[in-house]
Amino acid sequence: MNVYDSARMADVLAPLGYVSSSGPDGADMVILNTCHIRERASEKVYSELGRLRKIKKARTGSNNKMVIAVAGCVAQAEGEEILRRAPYVDIVLGPQTYHRLPEMVALATRASDKRNGNGNGILDTEFPVSSKFDHLPVENSSQGISAFLSVQEGCDKFCTFCVVPYTRGVEFSRPIEQVFEEAQRLVKKGAREITLLGQNVNAYHGKNETGSEVGLSYLIERLSEITGLDRLRYTTSHPKDMDESLINSHGKVGTLMPYLHLPVQSGSDRILAAMNRRHTAEEYLNIIHSLRKARPDIALSSDFIVGFPGETEADFEATIALIKEIKFSQAYSFKYSIRPGTPAGMLNDQVDDSVKNERLAYLQSVLLEQQNDYNSSKIGKELPVLFERQGRHEGQLIGRSPYNQSVSVNDAPADLIGAIRNVKIDSNLSHSLGGKVVEHGGLGSSAVNGNSL
Ligand code: SAH
Ligand code: SF4
Repeated sequence: MNVYDSARMADVLAPLGYVSSSGPDGADMVILNTCHIRERASEKVYSELGRLRKIKKARTGSNNKMVIAVAGCVAQAEGEEILRRAPYVDIVLGPQTYHRLPEMVALATRASDKRNGNGNGILDTEFPVSSKFDHLPVENSSQGISAFLSVQEGCDKFCTFCVVPYTRGVEFSRPIEQVFEEAQRLVKKGAREITLLGQNVNAYHGKNETGSEVGLSYLIERLSEITGLDRLRYTTSHPKDMDESLINSHGKVGTLMPYLHLPVQSGSDRILAAMNRRHTAEEYLNIIHSLRKARPDIALSSDFIVGFPGETEADFEATIALIKEIKFSQAYSFKYSIRPGTPAGMLNDQVDDSVKNERLAYLQSVLLEQQNDYNSSKIGKELPVLFERQGRHEGQLIGRSPYNQSVSVNDAPADLIGAIRNVKIDSNLSHSLGGKVVEHGGLGSSAVNGNSL
């Protein structure tokens, strides 16, 4: 979502004459768009600011001044603290106020001579009543072949470990037509795949033409009408909001790719309850079962947290058992990280770091083996690959399989970028696949078992 937000900030600033630069040297403004989800992510902000301070200082007194802004969730959570610890920061803005960047920049550049880097930076971390999406300009930048589109933001779930409800605010969905029009514009600019984004994307709700409440499955079906939009994905989902109609979309909507990232966090009911996840391990397994019934080849991914306060060896084993039962094609896993202000952060029975390290290493080894097995199972098969960009080597192209695997081919013409071609997979390169374009007739967006890939 920060990638999407950064592109939109660039759109907001374009009318002021700002264009993207490749790095901070020589730039008139640097915006750090930050993440607060785990301690490691938010720590990076201060070390990055230290680096920028030096560049800014070297330019003091010259005509080539630099505005420093901190955006995103660290800004939202620690706004005052940032201005105190780093008084050379000119602007601090939250994720819901970046449509107001032009005013902030005007104020900051006017005030910068007086301030001389000595405090009084601008702070705008409000949650405005009207949505930023109603004020953002039409997208200026192209996101390329595979684009992101934010459709939902914020969260009302309040999992006890998570800062999102505090930094991104309450759950909000954009109107269907607004999303539809943005998707059409993205396709006009060259996108052939769109990933719908939301912290809780499957909590998406909107109103159809007759004014009835509809969910994400309706939005997906509506977007699948867009000519030239060959692939749709959505992330991140919560198991509790995985309703029947969305599950059925996986069997019905040809453009919806057979891949789902569905975080479960733990396989222990005791820990799931302490996390306030509102479902059991069995309920999660039932969802997976229904998904596989609707779309037998669906590839599954998840998020795991090890070392949540009070997690015992038996709880951890329950997580491993769940992983072994489901078999994921890929996954993300993290050590529990205390987030200030969250209920779990205040619990006494925090797990030792050494135990967390041990559990994480073992869990990741099981997941890596599954990913490897999954990727190897595609060797010898032909997969329709959407080519997105050139690779590092001459003649190499990188694309994506329907199952969200990165696929590289050598000796392919660059004009295949943006096209879908069948690739015969011949190697498992551990985090990606290798193969050759099949010359006899590509698939394009034609039907395979009723599903256009
Ligand atoms: N909305 C999604 C996840 C959003 S946060 C969901 O409900 O699943 C992305 C991932 O970061 C989470 O799934 C979780 O695995 C991880 N995460 C969030 N807070 C964390 C914390 N305090 N410590 C470790 N990992 C965390
Ligand atoms: Fe955080 Fe996701 Fe839980 Fe919301 S549902 S509180 S975003 S982990």
